[in-house]
Amino acid sequence: MKTKSKEAYKGQNLFKFVLLPAAACLTAALAIGFMLSLLAGNNSLAAPKETTRWSENENRAEVTSEKKQEETSDTAETSIKVEESKVYPPEDYVSPGQAGVLSRSYLLTYPAQIDVETYHGLSDPRTLNTYNVENPDDIAVLVNKYYVLPETYEPEVIPVTNADWFRLRPEANAAWQKMQQAYRTETGKEINLNSAYRSYQVQDMLFAKALKRKGIAGCVGYNALPGRSEHQLGLAIDIHSTTGTKNSPSFAETTAYEWLQINCSRFGFILRYPKHKTHITDYAFEPWHYRYVGAELAQYLTTNDLTLEEYYGLGPTADQYMPDNDNTTVNSWSNLAD
Ligand SMILES: [Zn+2]
Repeated sequence: MKTKSKEAYKGQNLFKFVLLPAAACLTAALAIGFMLSLLAGNNSLAAPKETTRWSENENRAEVTSEKKQEETSDTAETSIKVEESKVYPPEDYVSPGQAGVLSRSYLLTYPAQIDVETYHGLSDPRTLNTYNVENPDDIAVLVNKYYVLPETYEPEVIPVTNADWFRLRPEANAAWQKMQQAYRTETGKEINLNSAYRSYQVQDMLFAKALKRKGIAGCVGYNALPGRSEHQLGLAIDIHSTTGTKNSPSFAETTAYEWLQINCSRFGFILRYPKHKTHITDYAFEPWHYRYVGAELAQYLTTNDLTLEEYYGLGPTADQYMPDNDNTTVNSWSNLAD
């Protein structure tokens, strides 16, 4: 028994002095460990959280990287657009009806033509197939022998300042006022309007009159059928100086013409029918006729030596017209509005 009790005592001692403290220590250690783990933000859970956080970070990094790539590709696209804007004009001149003008898809085409009559390389407009203009209010709209305005189209025009027997769209009037004043200031001379807005009906009357007087050969270079004149837009002006005949090729020899070649684009006007582009415009050289398209586009077209036709991707429509080699007397055309 003693032994047994000794053994039991030993066992008690072992319990008292070894196992109990050990258990206590272990408990304490566990407790401390637990508390530490709490303080440390629960290590047992922190590990997965940490993983999650890394994973989130990785995801975020990936997303960031993707965004950066997107931004990079956006930037790349932007640079392409900027690049293209050197060739194609600014979006400001694109109306909703003309969406896509900036992209290459803006290019226009001419309708198929059969049996077109031409005189000195220029088309008889009466023999042409045409398209209807669908965006006549667009400041950059193309109106020519092939793109026709509706008979009913009347722009919002106002009386021209200081010449209220003419009418223009307000933006064209404002630009004309500035250009006229600048010419006066810079040269000490005067330029005036010979024509501005003309209705479809007036154009109809003018063409009939010109046809009767000159015949079709005399009209193809200078006279537009109704609906095909830029004057119906309220954005075109015929300019004359105090010297020289109105609407005459001799206007090309005036100070006014020289000044306009350098300066009209900064006011938003372009020389619409240049001498070296008759095969593209399908009109003769008209040094007096200017079209308002806005300063940015005007400067773009002038700098790049482009007509509105070329701007819209339209190529030559007639052989180069050489007035000097033509039998028709230039002077017989000179007094008529186009
Ligand atoms: Zn004109």
